[in-house]
Amino acid sequence: MAGILFIISAPSGSGKSTLVSELRKQVSAVDFAISWTTRAPRGSERDGREYHFTTREEFLSMADAGMFLEHAEVFGSFYGTARLSLDDALAVDHDLILDIDVQGAAQVRAKMPEAVSIFVMPPNPKVLRTRLRNRSRAEGVVDEEEVFRRLGQARKEIENYRQYGYILINDVLDRAVAQLEAIVLAERYYRNGEPIAYRSRRVLEVAAACLLANSQERIKPVLEAFGIGGDPGQQGFLFGEDSDDD
Ligand code: ADP
Ligand code: 5GP
Repeated sequence: MAGILFIISAPSGSGKSTLVSELRKQVSAVDFAISWTTRAPRGSERDGREYHFTTREEFLSMADAGMFLEHAEVFGSFYGTARLSLDDALAVDHDLILDIDVQGAAQVRAKMPEAVSIFVMPPNPKVLRTRLRNRSRAEGVVDEEEVFRRLGQARKEIENYRQYGYILINDVLDRAVAQLEAIVLAERYYRNGEPIAYRSRRVLEVAAACLLANSQERIKPVLEAFGIGGDPGQQGFLFGEDSDDD
């Protein structure tokens, strides 16, 4: 396979966990680094599956002992990637996906510039709000304050999109999954010469279209909707100026 490190970042609720789990059904030998966090489990989350849940004390002593490849504070909780995740994936020659925030991504890029980085955007703030609410609802309770906080953070995170090699817009799920799959297969092909069966040409085209350099037209409406590089008045959605019909 490869030993390629993929970093995937996105505003919370954009769908990156969904994309990664769909990708792993389609493509073999891709491991997912289960992060450590001090936040409480949500809904059906289980320790050791979505995250390793821990206390602030244990997290900080792990950080002091140098056990993290990167770590950061996000929404008031600590999150970190254990170095061991990388060692384990490399030992079996698997690729590894890190689902980490923009601060963690910058730390990993500085240490491992060869990592492939992917930024996932929701199509617009209203869709993001609906997804955050739906996820909360599925978990049993809609915490409006938390939804509002995460929405407010989304714009700041999206502003960092230029630091990533590839851009995905998670609008229609199947299309975004196919694009993510194409990026993984294309990187395996370019880096390791791994063959891509009969679909190769199409896969390479799909991946190339997602390169940052080729994404400006595609992401323009998303940036506009979030009021980035344009009219800040567009952010009225955050403050309840339009109704949510979900
Ligand atoms: P993240 O990991 O980025 O925080 P999740 O993967 O948990 O986001 O997705 C947030 C919510 O949006 C979930 O309820 C998920 O089922 C839903 N979702 C993800 N992608 C799509 C999509 N393309 N279309 C509709 N709903 C989606
Ligand atoms: P959530 O609480 O919604 O699962 O995740 C909140 C944010 O923390 C997301 O942006 C997610 O990518 C990020 N995150 C999850 N694990 C890690 C990690 O190990 N390191 C860093 N830096 N961020 C993480």
